Amino acid sequence: MTLDFSEEECMVRDVVQRIVETHIRPRAVELDEEESFPWPQIKVLADNGLMGILVPQKYGGQQGSHLLYAMVVEEIARACAATALVYFTNTHGQLPILLAGTDTQKVHYLPPMANGEWLGALAVTEPQNGSDAAHMQCRATRVSDGYVLNGEKIFITNGDKADVMVVFARTGEPGARGISAFIVERKNGVVTSRVERKMGVRGSSTAALRFEDVFVPTVQRLGEEHQGFSTLMRTFDTTRLSTAAQAVGIAQGAYDIALEYTLVRQQFGRRIFDFQGMQFRLSEMLADITAGRALLYQTARLVDTGKPFTMEAAMAKLWCSEMAGRVTNQAVQALGGYGYMREFGVERMMRDAKITQIYDGTSDIQKLVIARRVLDVVQGRRGAQ
Ligand SMILES: Cc1cc2nc3c(=O)[nH]c(=O)nc-3n(C[C@H](O)[C@H](O)[C@H](O)COP(=O)(O)OP(=O)(O)OC[C@H]3O[C@@H](n4cnc5c(N)ncnc54)[C@H](O)[C@@H]3O)c2cc1C
Repeated sequence: MTLDFSEEECMVRDVVQRIVETHIRPRAVELDEEESFPWPQIKVLADNGLMGILVPQKYGGQQGSHLLYAMVVEEIARACAATALVYFTNTHGQLPILLAGTDTQKVHYLPPMANGEWLGALAVTEPQNGSDAAHMQCRATRVSDGYVLNGEKIFITNGDKADVMVVFARTGEPGARGISAFIVERKNGVVTSRVERKMGVRGSSTAALRFEDVFVPTVQRLGEEHQGFSTLMRTFDTTRLSTAAQAVGIAQGAYDIALEYTLVRQQFGRRIFDFQGMQFRLSEMLADITAGRALLYQTARLVDTGKPFTMEAAMAKLWCSEMAGRVTNQAVQALGGYGYMREFGVERMMRDAKITQIYDGTSDIQKLVIARRVLDVVQGRRGAQ
């Protein structure tokens, strides 16, 4: 596609591609099979100044564009979706601080999260409240100089590894108007109660966390009390770019393998690529990926130019994640029985693709976000008539 990339965006993408080929792709199978956390890969990304792309330079970040960020996530996911997840979850921990933090909070927390010294996480989901985050139950009770957190969060990426996490909890009335956001350091008493075993992205860590009278000083509350839900919704707008980029990367990775295989594999005395049916399959895969990438990059540019992007981010997340499901499935099919075996990696990509349809709001939830925006526009137009 013909988007104009800046010199910096092209340069950083080249650096990331080299890092991926040298340090990330060679370890992707091992991470999946051993369910080992990609600390060495994260260190390399940190050493190359990539852990704080969206963080302003004055807080130790790279101050890059959202398009650059999406390209970096995509390149990593093309080789290893689990490393991409661990990587972008660190950014997800930074986002609420960027959106609602005071200068003091930014000065204290963003530099170590942007240079890889501290790993970040975002804790929203609870046992009884996933999609319906507005009714979360984890409670932050006010005490004289802060809050005491009690409750449980589940499925938290980096949950057992992160040094610092942004936790959303109830401070007031039921529903969206009673939620606040807090910066919580894990060393202050957050207990890992369980580490999940998963279908895909197995090199990432997904943990349940227990908060039992965890004290959080008032200075670590993000934004006004009870205003956390709006910070969360704005955070999700950007996290959806990460997932969409991860989905595009996974799909591209699977396509690359399928193309290479079909150019070599012979059946009926010909390369299987030469069968028109196979060409149709590969062409549809490529068109699907290219459409997803166009939507993703266009949405990233909307963010970079300060335009509204809530609906576009939901559409990008919905389209790219469903597309990654279709494309990885077709990649396995293109390799036949070998596609089902572990050695070619496409079965891993098919497993990894599934999660992109679930986290950061399931595909159903993206459709609700889109429909709400559509209704806002229609009702706004009717109101103006
Ligand atoms: C590997 C992994 C990593 C994760 N990382 C994080 C993380 O870092 N931080 C975090 O906070 N959470 C994280 N999550 C949680 C994730 O965001 C939730 O699983 C997701 O939002 C769905 O919530 P749920 O699992 O409770 O499903 P539910 O909300 O119970 O949904 C179950 C089904 O019902 C459908 N559904 C629900 N409501 C509606 C509706 N209104 N209309 C139509 N259909 C509906 C859903 O689409 C889904 O199909 C992670 C999850 C996984 C699996």
